[in-house]
Amino acid sequence: MPRALITGITGQDGSYLSEQLLAQGWEIHALVRKARQDNERFVDARVITHFGDLNDFVGLERVVSDVEPNYVFNLGGISSVATSWDKPAATGLISGVAVVALLDASLRLQVRTGKDVRFVQASSSEIFGNARAAPQDEKTPVKPISPYGVAKAYAHDGVRIYRAKGLHASSCILYNHESPRRPQTFVTRKITMGAAEIVAGVSGRLMLGSLDVKRDWGWAPDYVDALIRASQASEPDDYVIATGISHSVRDFVEAAFVAVGITDWEPFVGVDQRFVRPADVQEMRGDARKALRVLGWKPTIGFTEVVSRMARHDLALLGK
Ligand code: NAP
Repeated sequence: MPRALITGITGQDGSYLSEQLLAQGWEIHALVRKARQDNERFVDARVITHFGDLNDFVGLERVVSDVEPNYVFNLGGISSVATSWDKPAATGLISGVAVVALLDASLRLQVRTGKDVRFVQASSSEIFGNARAAPQDEKTPVKPISPYGVAKAYAHDGVRIYRAKGLHASSCILYNHESPRRPQTFVTRKITMGAAEIVAGVSGRLMLGSLDVKRDWGWAPDYVDALIRASQASEPDDYVIATGISHSVRDFVEAAFVAVGITDWEPFVGVDQRFVRPADVQEMRGDARKALRVLGWKPTIGFTEVVSRMARHDLALLGK
């Protein structure tokens, strides 16, 4: 039975990844920061948890050495660009330097045991910054413009370096992907919950930052499937994981309001300059043809259905 060590299991992607791997009969170990009370982030009872923190490199090495995983999926870290502006150094440490510590621990384990260790990094489209061309692919220059992007770029290069040292280490360059498990600190879930609250009469107005920013939004379980496929590929590599279609925040708002039964959404939505991010990437759109060709991966759920699933889930949470 394959044994995986997952970081970030209490997050959106970690929860879907562990569900998919458990369903396939894998033994799952997870690095967990603390017991979570929040039942949306419930960790399956079959998961063997190891308490630790990505900023404790000695502890990381110990967990890898104790668990002896065949696979390491690194999904943990500060995952929001906005938070990275509040905590730039911590983002660099947890989402950048810690990845190299984990790669190094994985390679040491491989050398010590003589058994292959496969590593998959949840990289990000934010490593490209304001890319000159769209869509971006694996050859697009890495030129981040936020502390989050810089940390992810450091990790991305770390994966390349450890791949050259003989580790089966792959980077999935993930474009934005959403689900009802997205925290409300992210604009997408803020929108779907905001629309649901307006219908439920809990709130009268939804305040947002720029409505013009464009993103390539997909369905989170599809992106987790790509991570698994990368771990099974004969050779390690980098893969852009995206739908290839971008939509504006305005499109997202409209789709969310339509999903909850409001077509004339504009009176309910305002723009607040406090929510406009410094140096935001204006448009992201990925070209995932390599993932299709090599991994046989493609998205299964389109934009409107992703937004609709989130909005309907939020309405149900409010008892509507
Ligand atoms: P998420 O929901 O924010 O989850 C982040 C996870 O990291 C949580 O389990 C969190 O644990 C853990 N974590 C944070 N700081 C940690 C630390 N110091 N030590 C150990 N664990 C720590 O993120 P996600 O949306 O699932 O994303 C998963 C990965 O994909 C992230 O690396 C993200 O950067 C990357 N990614 C995501 C997207 C996207 O659209 N979702 C796009 C591109 C790349 P706690 O529960 O303890 O906070």
